[in-house]
Amino acid sequence: MDERRESERVGDAAPSRRGVLRGAALAVAGLVTGPTVTGKRGTADEVPASVPPPATEPPARPFQGLLEAEGHAYHNWGRSRETRPAVYVEPISVADVQAVVGDAARFPGPVSVVGGMMSVTETIGNDGGTIVSMRKLDAIHGLERDGAGRQVVRVEAGCRLKKLHLWLQARNLEIPFQAEIGDATVGSVAAGDTKDSSLGGAGYFSAGVVALTYVDETGAIRTLDEPTDPGALAAFKCSYGLSGIIVECLVEVRPSILCRSRFGVVRKDSPEALAATIRERQAGCDAFWATVWLDKLAALCDERFQAGPGAVTPAASQPVFDALRIQRRLTIQHGLSAKDLPRPTPPPAEIVYSRADCVNEYWRPETTESRLDFQYYEHDLPQLERVIVESHAFTIRFQEAHGFLPNGWILYFVRRGEQAKKPFGLYSGGPGTSFSFDPVFSDPLDPLWQRFAKDYNAVAIHALGGRPSPIQTQWLTPDDLTIPKQLARPRFTTPYYAQFLG
Ligand SMILES: Cc1cc2nc3c(=O)[nH]c(=O)nc-3n(C[C@H](O)[C@H](O)[C@H](O)COP(=O)(O)OP(=O)(O)OC[C@H]3O[C@@H](n4cnc5c(N)ncnc54)[C@H](O)[C@@H]3O)c2cc1C
Repeated sequence: MDERRESERVGDAAPSRRGVLRGAALAVAGLVTGPTVTGKRGTADEVPASVPPPATEPPARPFQGLLEAEGHAYHNWGRSRETRPAVYVEPISVADVQAVVGDAARFPGPVSVVGGMMSVTETIGNDGGTIVSMRKLDAIHGLERDGAGRQVVRVEAGCRLKKLHLWLQARNLEIPFQAEIGDATVGSVAAGDTKDSSLGGAGYFSAGVVALTYVDETGAIRTLDEPTDPGALAAFKCSYGLSGIIVECLVEVRPSILCRSRFGVVRKDSPEALAATIRERQAGCDAFWATVWLDKLAALCDERFQAGPGAVTPAASQPVFDALRIQRRLTIQHGLSAKDLPRPTPPPAEIVYSRADCVNEYWRPETTESRLDFQYYEHDLPQLERVIVESHAFTIRFQEAHGFLPNGWILYFVRRGEQAKKPFGLYSGGPGTSFSFDPVFSDPLDPLWQRFAKDYNAVAIHALGGRPSPIQTQWLTPDDLTIPKQLARPRFTTPYYAQFLG
């Protein structure tokens, strides 16, 4: 990937933004190339005969955001992962991000980036290094057209998805990716893995990212956009922060559409019959999502259909929709734990609503509370029956041996596009449909759940050929996952990611 040549391609930016980025980039140029490019000296003749070399390294750039170096521990949302960086920073400007990356003495490597810290794996782990939290760089700069004429929103990397959805909703616009997670940040989902049973669109967030601006390993600002750098952009979107820290994205938007969900519970007497029913229902709607209880051979199906233009849930659907939304939020917060939920109200048979209204934020739980934990695996649609049948057999065997069952399984369907646009990792199998079949539990620290997840990795990845995610699949070993090493720069590579490079 040629990262140098695309420097400063921010011509599409809104004027204020363009000014900020260009100023910062020029400052970096001054820092990197030294005094001969500063001032007015344009030709060699004008340069004084002897320019003394700088006596010392250029002075460190100031860092103005929050800086903490007291040895505190930081945790992910589920409090299942802990890390003690030497330095933790919350930049308040792009120049702050550059200052951190470019100053190895003050900010020891590796430098890793986080957003909402909602991920379940060790991805946030960076003991002794520098963690950059993007949470304060969360502005939405506005709408514009990209080089290909598409309508896009320019948004900073720390922006939470719910904030972005609300902003677009107010303008009768949306992105197709409307998974229920509202706390994930744009930068994380642009460079990482996601899943959503989307109405139209791909079903993973990064598919809609048509340009991004990042800070590279030298501290310089780079921009990649699809019309000019399609290959480099596509590779960067598979890089989990290993190629650079995303500070801003252009994300394609479309006019808002409403969703009609048809809910139904199915119960079957064999896993084959359950798989066949799910397949039939998935084929008959615009998007399909389900919660599955393998031990009961049952599923709550959500068949989604496009229901015409509209940005907000119609009044006619209230108050039923809001009750459903709140129930769903609690169900996810508590990881489908039946004992911690009010007696569920059965969903309505059908309801029309805005999917953006169904995106939620989740409170940060205590370790004493039940809270969502899960494992992620991508499979190809023709594998649906085999995955359900073999996962059922594994689950029953595990229950008989250990008396443990996950609380349920969540099933998403994602459309894959051409491989050139998703060259590595999830959804890189070329055009087709993928599904993910994710076991869910409500206590990430439960030893039996952890054992279940580790044992199921062998089934899902090695027997069933599923693809895992370093952000959404826990307990991976180097045999389970390879991340192309050309995506990784040493300055950004933590030991967690180093083990997967190949
Ligand atoms: C309650 C709950 C519900 C969830 N539901 C869903 C769901 O429905 N669908 C789904 O797909 N996922 C879901 N998730 C998973 C979540 O969306 C992903 O883990 C997401 O990546 C988290 O975003 P974050 O900002 O918290 O990332 P973090 O956990 O803070 O960071 C994860 C990684 O992203 C990378 N990264 C972060 N910021 C940047 C940046 N600016 N530049 C480059 N790389 C960066 C780094 O590798 C980092 O380690 C859920 C998680 C929880 C806890």
